[in-house]
Amino acid sequence: MTKVLDLYLAGEWKQGQGNPSESRFPADGSLNAVFSTATEADVNEAVEKAEKAWRDPSWRNSLPLERAKVLYKVAEIIEANAKELSALQTKDNGKPLAETFGLVMSAAGTARYMAAACETFDQNLPSQRASDILTMSVYEPIGVIAAITPWNSPIASEIQKLAPAIAAGNAVILKPAEATSLIALEIAKIFEQAGLPKGLLSVLPGKGSVIGNALVSHPLVKKISFTGGTSTGRRLAHVAAEKLITTSLELGGKSPTIVFEDADLDIASHGVAYGIFSSAGQACIAGARLFVHQNVYDEFLEKLVTLTRGLRVGHPETPDTHIGPLISESHLKSVDDYVQLAVKEGGQVVVGGQRLTGGVYDQGTYYAPTIITGLKNTATVCQEEIFGPVLVVIPFEDEATLLEEANDSFYGLAAGIWTENYRKALQVARQLEVGTVWVNTYKKFSVSAPFGGGKESGIGREKGREGMLAYMQQKSIYLSLSDQPNPWAN
Ligand code: ADP
Repeated sequence: MTKVLDLYLAGEWKQGQGNPSESRFPADGSLNAVFSTATEADVNEAVEKAEKAWRDPSWRNSLPLERAKVLYKVAEIIEANAKELSALQTKDNGKPLAETFGLVMSAAGTARYMAAACETFDQNLPSQRASDILTMSVYEPIGVIAAITPWNSPIASEIQKLAPAIAAGNAVILKPAEATSLIALEIAKIFEQAGLPKGLLSVLPGKGSVIGNALVSHPLVKKISFTGGTSTGRRLAHVAAEKLITTSLELGGKSPTIVFEDADLDIASHGVAYGIFSSAGQACIAGARLFVHQNVYDEFLEKLVTLTRGLRVGHPETPDTHIGPLISESHLKSVDDYVQLAVKEGGQVVVGGQRLTGGVYDQGTYYAPTIITGLKNTATVCQEEIFGPVLVVIPFEDEATLLEEANDSFYGLAAGIWTENYRKALQVARQLEVGTVWVNTYKKFSVSAPFGGGKESGIGREKGREGMLAYMQQKSIYLSLSDQPNPWAN
């Protein structure tokens, strides 16, 4: 009989009370592991224990440097096991090894940055407004945090929530995506090994609509930190509104990339292809709408199509693979349905546009990198997030229309600009309604730069010092310097 992996409930490894679930390798459907899932009763137990654990004076009064010590150790353990963690994440979601290795290293960097941010964090002494009163503004933890994550970059997005929440002195219950629970269980082992006191972390795999919902609805959960689809994010915002608690929501995107006439077209074509096709397009920040100046449209498109034809779609464990399989059959169908819809709406598929078959492709869910032209920005596939390797290309003539169209989106997550003129780049960057702009690069990240979106791409920022502040609440303390009684009327 296949072993069922335990879940991690408030410092104990045990079988959850839900039905066991399977993790399968998207490259060939083989079984990675069977893991235990939680029930609402498990959620209640984890939250109640988390509430006790964060209020325990040993944690409540812990010095920042003590919490930092745990996170430095987490970073160290992640780095020491980077290869194994990367291999495990590739098995879970099918991303090529080079990509998952990058995500693992970025997770280690996030843990180390949050340790340093925590250790060096200064409380505030606001400017004095009266000679006999001194005010302090202190930051305190919020309490029990619900962290809910998607399947596309689990280790990075999970540490992005856990590290700042722990640095700030909270307790966290992590509900990973159904498809990628294995790495989350490894993260629990890492925090345990790093010496995090019992009860402060639980990892509860299970269905979003059941376990995720039970978790965010629990009265003792005081903040929701979510990365995933916009419709789920909206639902969670409703729950948070009812409970009057805060959220950090990192949701979908349909990010524009813009190629100006004066761009280095060779460099830009590589950047644009990487921006949309890496991770097989399964990234909220994928540069999925491309605007090209009409004077270089034909030349650029030709370069891009040639480059796209040369991309190596293949087994994610083969070292030189650029693009691996999609996460599942149902997701592949959804991507293909969008491509068919694009054709119905008058689009032309200039490269790709179908599932790949033959050889290794027959064992997995591989979709050809696809470029579609001939559509206006108002077409469905230019507005809705496909979350697959599908790029729509639109020519533009003048900057005003370009900006109008680039901003004509429900989403506001990211954008790319390709030009040799940095003055223009900065002017355009300031006018784009998004949370991140890349100029002559794409998908590059720094842990010290806050990340997040506006419009329907979300609320709040992760990473940077703001990423830790998001898990704290301020308290103002007034200290009288006077030995006189309070006056009555001023
Ligand atoms: P994706 O498109 O990335 O799968 P989802 O929003 O469906 O986006 O899922 C992201 C995470 O949200 C997953 O962990 C999923 O289980 C969880 N989730 C889905 N529905 C709910 C819900 N109603 N309440 C809480 N969590 C949910």
